[in-house]
Amino acid sequence: MTLKVLLVEDDRELRATLRDGLAVEGFEVLTAASLSEGLALLAHATADLVVLDLGLPDGDGEALLAQLRRRQSLPVLVISARQAEGQKIRLLDAGADDYLVKPFGIGELLARMRVALRHRGTTVQAALTQYRQGDVEVDLPAQRVRRDGHALHLTPTEFKLLARLVRSAGQVVTHRQLLTDVWGADFTEHTHYLRLYMGQLRAKLEADPAEPRLLLTEPGVGYRLVEPEES
Ligand code: CA
Repeated sequence: MTLKVLLVEDDRELRATLRDGLAVEGFEVLTAASLSEGLALLAHATADLVVLDLGLPDGDGEALLAQLRRRQSLPVLVISARQAEGQKIRLLDAGADDYLVKPFGIGELLARMRVALRHRGTTVQAALTQYRQGDVEVDLPAQRVRRDGHALHLTPTEFKLLARLVRSAGQVVTHRQLLTDVWGADFTEHTHYLRLYMGQLRAKLEADPAEPRLLLTEPGVGYRLVEPEES
């Protein structure tokens, strides 16, 4: 199950950093740069969690928090540069699940998100983001793939496909799931994309692409990246 996060943050750089960090962990991320954009998105889409900045160009994030609390009970994490104790208490009273003062690390945000989701009965395992097997090493946050100590260049699509398999290493991921997560929900019939890109990944990662030992085919079902080595 892919969990959907709505990220409301007007700082373009922070928004991009957080979006990428959450996507690497396997979340689907919707982004909004203002209060009105956030509200518009929520009117048409559902989210499992909201990460909400307070200082927004068209108003205060608190207004969105109030609206959310009237309508539904999804977890809301407030992120803000302000750290007045009084405000923190007021926001928690108003129904925010947690409050992070900027700057914070993506690891801390993810940990707080897992706690907030767990309180609503959703358990989120920390996704695997580092992978090592034989001479292949993958570091998803750093977007780095190495074989035999040498950096490999992957195209953005190859990297997305590999990242999806790393997050579920050891498990079969169905064709449909891979196509949805890498290309989008409109592409679930395009299994030829998968064959093409798996061929490219194998050419780069496997010692013998014709006899894959890492990127395995589960006939008629999907693909499986073999379990990582114990570290
Ligand atoms: Ca802001």
